[in-house]
Amino acid sequence: MRKSKTKMYLGTLCKHGHEFRNTGMSLRYKGGTCVECVKIQVREWREKQRQLIEKQREEYRLMEERANRRKERIRKLVERRTAELMEENERLKNQVWMAQKKIENERKALAIRVIEAVRGVQP
Ligand SMILES: [Zn+2]
Repeated sequence: MRKSKTKMYLGTLCKHGHEFRNTGMSLRYKGGTCVECVKIQVREWREKQRQLIEKQREEYRLMEERANRRKERIRKLVERRTAELMEENERLKNQVWMAQKKIENERKALAIRVIEAVRGVQP
């Protein structure tokens, strides 16, 4: 107020009744706007900005929470599916092993039969 006092003057009382030091008048800027009214407007604007930022932060936080929940859900899904596939893989490996064992046994049985048949033919 000190430096820019020359840019201010005492004018008629503003409609909000901001009286300057019992003068019955309002301190006004050169353009005519009440200094006190401007102060209040600036304060209100700052408060509104603060609330806006807070609201945005809260929205961002909620968004992040949602994204994290989704990620966790997908992670669990992948984990479960991986376990299922590993189980399936194990089961198939077992089947292959059993099939190989069966073929091997049949081959042995066939070899024995051939040997016996050859012995039978021999004098
Ligand atoms: Zn005023």
